[in-house]
Amino acid sequence: MAEARDPSPAPDEVVVAVEACGLCGSDVHSLQNGEAADGQILGHEFSGRIAARGRDVTGWAEGQPVAASPLGSCGKCRICARGLNFRCPAAPNIGINRQGAYAQYVAVPARQLVALPRELPVELGAHAEPLSVGSQAVKLSGAGAGDPVLVFGVGPIGLYAIMALRLAGAGPIVAAGRSAGRREAAADVGADVVLDTRSRPVREWAEESGTKFAAALECSAAPGAFGELLDLLEPGGTCVEVALTPEEARVPLFGMLSEGLHLVGSCAFSDETYRESVDHLVAGRVPADRLISERVPLDGTPDALVRLRTPGTLVRILSRPWD
Ligand SMILES: [Zn+2]
Ligand SMILES: [Zn+2]
Repeated sequence: MAEARDPSPAPDEVVVAVEACGLCGSDVHSLQNGEAADGQILGHEFSGRIAARGRDVTGWAEGQPVAASPLGSCGKCRICARGLNFRCPAAPNIGINRQGAYAQYVAVPARQLVALPRELPVELGAHAEPLSVGSQAVKLSGAGAGDPVLVFGVGPIGLYAIMALRLAGAGPIVAAGRSAGRREAAADVGADVVLDTRSRPVREWAEESGTKFAAALECSAAPGAFGELLDLLEPGGTCVEVALTPEEARVPLFGMLSEGLHLVGSCAFSDETYRESVDHLVAGRVPADRLISERVPLDGTPDALVRLRTPGTLVRILSRPWD
């Protein structure tokens, strides 16, 4: 691990002393595949305390606990107006193409901050990013009260999506996955039915129980999954691809139009969704803290990112750079 210089804030930025940063599967993959640029510090699911302020920053105090969206946005272009900040060509994203939070300090544009209350553990804010990813997918799925929904894949994103579905009142929520530890977590955070895809295909369960889904969230990146989920939808249903996958899925266009299906991709989230996620966490509406399997110090973070290639019973690991 190379030493990096501590950042200093630009005029409209603060420097945050990182309290916790969640280890994300996208970091695991980009390191495994050698996609991260040289010198790039990863880490985009974080919270901490303001350590320094740029000269134009007002309304924020040093020592104040904050969660921070990693997504830059200019707030002016057509892409930002659609809530797709992460695609804004004018503003880079923390831990992706500007320096991230697997570090003691990270510089953050003040507009990306959301205040946390002083009386709660600051670490709680590190759940806001993945909960937002799950919530955005649920919003795009259109799932609401009383809608049967399938969450295919119970890695962290699937698990946060389950929490978001509960918040939306959807149900029954059927979760399907391969890892025993993560299936247990799925039940723990609110899935009504949990299926082991190693022993039984979801299609079989759906046929036997006579279930068709209003929405299916593809969170597994398993080859062929997206196409298979389309068959499990009720007319007018929505299939959302949430996992990052290079697969080129085959889509039966006649089935799509004759059944009136909606096919959607969901990546990242809007500023509004991020603020809502912080609200849910602060109000204690989601059991996110139950997902933490391990906390590791900064020098244990590279090894933990390697261990997550084969997660076994690991669900979620937090890097805590000051421990
Ligand atoms: Zn992530
Ligand atoms: Zn923009």
